Amino acid sequence: MSNELTIIIPAFNEVKTIQRNIKTIMAQLSDDGLAASYLIVDDGSRDDTWGELTRLAAEHSSVSCLRLSRNYGKEAAIFAGLAEVPTPLCLVMDSDLQHPPRYIKEMLAIMRETGADVVEGVKLSRGRETLKYKLVAKFFYRAFHWLCGINLDGASDFKLFNRKAMGALKEFREGTVFFRGLVHWAGFKHETLAFHVDNREGDKSRFSTWRLIRFALMATLSHSSQPLLLPFALAAVFWVGGILLGGIALYGYFTGIAISGFTTVILLLLIQGALILFSLGIIGLYLARIYDEAKRRPRFFVMEKMIRHDAPSGQT
Ligand code: UDP
Ligand code: MG
Repeated sequence: MSNELTIIIPAFNEVKTIQRNIKTIMAQLSDDGLAASYLIVDDGSRDDTWGELTRLAAEHSSVSCLRLSRNYGKEAAIFAGLAEVPTPLCLVMDSDLQHPPRYIKEMLAIMRETGADVVEGVKLSRGRETLKYKLVAKFFYRAFHWLCGINLDGASDFKLFNRKAMGALKEFREGTVFFRGLVHWAGFKHETLAFHVDNREGDKSRFSTWRLIRFALMATLSHSSQPLLLPFALAAVFWVGGILLGGIALYGYFTGIAISGFTTVILLLLIQGALILFSLGIIGLYLARIYDEAKRRPRFFVMEKMIRHDAPSGQT
């Protein structure tokens, strides 16, 4: 176990590849002359990922594991890991080798040389992804930038933290957490390392398009209240439109010209109805968030813990 660095790895249904991938990470670190502890968080996998992890931990004293009581999502899994880190540094990475371990040495060097509190991996290329996934991601980053003023294009969860930055992340009290957004919001001294995303080792992404859309919505709602101003902007547009149309109608009335009105009335009603429902929908989304947060439920429950504090430094 390293006294310096803990690597947090969330894993969900990764039975086929988890052992192999963690061993690849270990081999790379040992080639680079680095020592680390591994804290792998099983995010309520429905396959035997936990079994694989316990076998891995039996073999390697540097491996600790947490098992969440159900699938809470990657963000909660990362925070579950953060709560258990005993070392001054921690690195978060995916279990599928899309965050290539060959960059870890450089990230540590950047932190050492620049005195940064956070070193972020920034995606230069995105690896193999479906077109649908790419489009949803692109649209989300655009919308998020526009609404929240935070440009996350290229941002990843491949990040290295020192104790100060970790401490800050633990301070957040909200139940629904968007890791990348909170890291950005917390500030501190950031440095980046550009990296190429490798192809996924394992079956396809755990994020279906629908899950990705829900995720994007969660991230936006928890970082911006700008959409709540949209009904206001729509109302302003309607006021201007209303005054213009009202003027035309009155002009028609007084000059005796009947305006061909039925289609106009139907269209106006439909547009107005849609916009009112849209506005109500936005308010509903925020109300739902307030409802969820007001309950102050725990972010996750840990079902099983295998934390090692005993292994000597440098061991894998
Ligand atoms: N993951 C998780 N919980 C989930 C979904 C994913 O812990 O509910 C983990 C997954 O096992 C992997 C990482 O998060 O280690 C990234 O997942 P994935 O590769 O499927 O996502 P993508 O690379 O497409 O963003
Ligand atoms: Mg992946």
